[in-house]
Amino acid sequence: MTDSSPVQTDLINNLLDLNPQCIICFDQINQNNFVLAKINSEWKLNSYCKDCVEYYKSIMWKNYISNIINADCKKSLDRSINYPMPKFLTDNSSLTGNQISSLYYNDSYMDSRLEIEFNEDTLNQMIMDIEIIKNEMSDDDYDYLSHIELFSRKYNLEKYKKTS
Ligand SMILES: [Zn+2]
Repeated sequence: MTDSSPVQTDLINNLLDLNPQCIICFDQINQNNFVLAKINSEWKLNSYCKDCVEYYKSIMWKNYISNIINADCKKSLDRSINYPMPKFLTDNSSLTGNQISSLYYNDSYMDSRLEIEFNEDTLNQMIMDIEIIKNEMSDDDYDYLSHIELFSRKYNLEKYKKTS
């Protein structure tokens, strides 16, 4: 089933005539791999291609968790934990980007939600646990490494642990 595009075809053609490049893989963005992204209720040509959209949908949440689980110093944990847990793709594929609320490619509307193995209740529980760790981190005596370890065990996240 196909839906009609949220952006007029000639407008898309004009944008593609400018030979945009994917900001991630540097492939040229064309008729075959362009993506439209809805950000703040406005549809735009996404700055990265279809392949990269699908890749980041599968990896972005896992990367966030992996960065927390594998933080080996306070500084690296700070870097990950200070951003809210991502649930949706963003317009630059990183935690600093604007959230995309909907996607359109392959002539269809697509979910901008990241691939996440947990249900909403568990995710909210995880977010609360991360929030507690984040708040306690300001205390210099706080043993954040063992709390991260407990967090990892509680949600069975050992598979995201990097083995050296
Ligand atoms: Zn790309």
